[in-house]
Amino acid sequence: MSGGSSWRIPVPPKTNELLSSWLIRAARRYACTPSDFTHYVWGSNPSWTRDLDRWASISAIATLNHRLRGDVREATSTSLRSFCERLGSPPPGPGITPGILAVGVYHRLRNRYGLQYCPQCLFEDQEPYFRRDWRLAHVWICTRHGCVLRDCCPSCESPIAPHRATFLQVEKCWECDSSLLVTSPAASDQEVSAHAHIQLFWQTNSIGAGKAIASFPDWLAATRRLYATLASTNPGQLMLKNALTAISHPRSSTEPSHPLFELGRVEDRGRLLTAIVSMTHDWPSTFLRLAKGVGLRRNQLITFSHSSITSCLMSVAKMLPLESRKPRRKQKKAPAYLRMSTADARQRIDLSAAIARRIASLPSAPSKHRSEEV
Ligand SMILES: [Zn+2]
Ligand SMILES: [Zn+2]
Repeated sequence: MSGGSSWRIPVPPKTNELLSSWLIRAARRYACTPSDFTHYVWGSNPSWTRDLDRWASISAIATLNHRLRGDVREATSTSLRSFCERLGSPPPGPGITPGILAVGVYHRLRNRYGLQYCPQCLFEDQEPYFRRDWRLAHVWICTRHGCVLRDCCPSCESPIAPHRATFLQVEKCWECDSSLLVTSPAASDQEVSAHAHIQLFWQTNSIGAGKAIASFPDWLAATRRLYATLASTNPGQLMLKNALTAISHPRSSTEPSHPLFELGRVEDRGRLLTAIVSMTHDWPSTFLRLAKGVGLRRNQLITFSHSSITSCLMSVAKMLPLESRKPRRKQKKAPAYLRMSTADARQRIDLSAAIARRIASLPSAPSKHRSEEV
């Protein structure tokens, strides 16, 4: 729907801007709350009680754009829907969209760390805004400033929720009102290199996997599986530790926060994706050596019913040993009397004769008379 007149103040989206960020800027310009603003534009349809960056329909964005007088193409690209095809993910629905960080909507709160930001970018913006790329799970570094992105308030560690910030000052924490513009640490050389590799796959939709060429969706499917393996199993964590030691990764090797890629904190994703790039650069040689070294089993790498597993990961998984089963305990031989039939037993045991022999062997009972004599 795009009927009705355009509004007086044009607020076009900025380059690479996220839909929710655009809405917040517009609400601020029109001096109202984000929920009042979306109510004016879209009526009573739920907006901030959903992850609207994933959910907003094309027609809803067209209506918004008509009111705010932006460019149609730029407006459409503010939604994360436009990433789905490139990620090989289905259109957004309930639950996780592969490759897109989850924000964990709870009423109007956010309880996951799925909105990242670069403090320096926000600081340098004339009008601070959040980038669409900051919701991608394979992005954890600002390529402009070379620093690791932040995914929470540096003071109180609350997830980022700019639509709740006081006076819509998005550079401040909605919870504690502290500045979000605290500089974040520079990324290590290994991380910068791994990040650059992945961004190249993302841009070109092509990655060399040994002799094969895989698409970005193939890479993502395999990476989500490797990420879960490295984050959740003992051999996986040992393999991660070995891979990080091999590349002298300076970051801590504490256990990752969550085995699901889209729920991982920014430091975990940086650490694990760097390890995955280092162990897959000569696919599958290094990976197989590390996997066999820590006794990784086929079933720990993939679930065969998992339809999205790529053929290149499947072919390597087949080179790993199957799950080891405990050898069956050898059954003890039953005693002979339990193994013979009843008929055999009757033949063998002449019960009456046995009783007679037993009675005969007993000492004779002392008589009452004798005891009286004593
Ligand atoms: Zn930046
Ligand atoms: Zn805070």
